[in-house]
Amino acid sequence: MKISLVLVLSLITLVANAETIKSFSVSKSNSKISEIATSFEIVENREKDFIVYVLDSKTDKFNRMAPLAKLISEDINKELKNKSQKIQGYHSFEEVQSIAKELEQSFPTLAKIEHYGTSKNGLPLFALKITKDAKKSNKVKKSMLTSATHGDELITVEVLLSLSRMLLESYGKDDRLTRIVDESETYFIFVVNPEGFTRRSRYAGGIDPNRQYPWPGNPNRSTPVKSIDSLMKFYKEKDFKGSIDFHAYGKMVMFPWGYTRDLINSSDHEHFNLLTKDMAKENRYKSGPISRVIYVAKGSSADFYYEHNGGSAIAVELGNRKVPHHTKIAAVVEQAREMTWKFLDSIVAL
Ligand SMILES: [Zn+2]
Repeated sequence: MKISLVLVLSLITLVANAETIKSFSVSKSNSKISEIATSFEIVENREKDFIVYVLDSKTDKFNRMAPLAKLISEDINKELKNKSQKIQGYHSFEEVQSIAKELEQSFPTLAKIEHYGTSKNGLPLFALKITKDAKKSNKVKKSMLTSATHGDELITVEVLLSLSRMLLESYGKDDRLTRIVDESETYFIFVVNPEGFTRRSRYAGGIDPNRQYPWPGNPNRSTPVKSIDSLMKFYKEKDFKGSIDFHAYGKMVMFPWGYTRDLINSSDHEHFNLLTKDMAKENRYKSGPISRVIYVAKGSSADFYYEHNGGSAIAVELGNRKVPHHTKIAAVVEQAREMTWKFLDSIVAL
């Protein structure tokens, strides 16, 4: 039986001080991992090992199953407390939701929240739609900007919060941004993976969400992630013509393919190559296909979006840290600003 974080947290509350939970690292070469997974919670799937939570009273049972496992933490309760502590300059999931509501209330004709499901642990999945007459469905091109697919890349969320506010506050004052709002619909999804974001983890239930999208030749995945499935459904329903999935870090602006070093068809390649070069002009990010700029990655969002409808599927790696010091947040927003407006200009021009 898999113990969810909620259950673990309520166990922590219930048995407070009575029973602690330890965490262990289990090597990927351990052949009993599926057996272990039926009795214990695998919380992280890392490159070379799995991180497993073990109730103190079950330690003997666990040690019999995985005698070579390495103890990482004697008491994850302490660790979780540290992780849930507020980081200066960064917003919690509750605060992200309140900011979205506040923007919707301050700009009732330009902004509207749309829900598109819930994560596996019941947290809301939502987008802030920004366009002229947001309550209506306009016959204009739609695009989607997403952050926190990897829940520990906190800077991505702050960047989208700032950009959405800038877009709204510039309406009627800045010709270029006014045109973007008038002539397209932009959907800001601040937290793609709330399950990971609320615990500052890359993963959703132990699975890397950005390796779970279908790619050419692999239409069915063995381990679906609810928040990603809901997002893919949302993408198809809206028929987005473009998307930027923001990650951190590396200073890169990229396009498909990720799953292979082969290039996409030459006219699309030419278009995306020019677009990403232009996007990288001011911030001097590296640009090019994902598999060549970074590495071959199977199951990432951009490949799915591009394969689905040929949309301008961009993946960005922001800045040089996942959680830069709060005094550096504005500089990363600045790196993303012109790049994002250029991308939205390109959607309007389609
Ligand atoms: Zn990432």
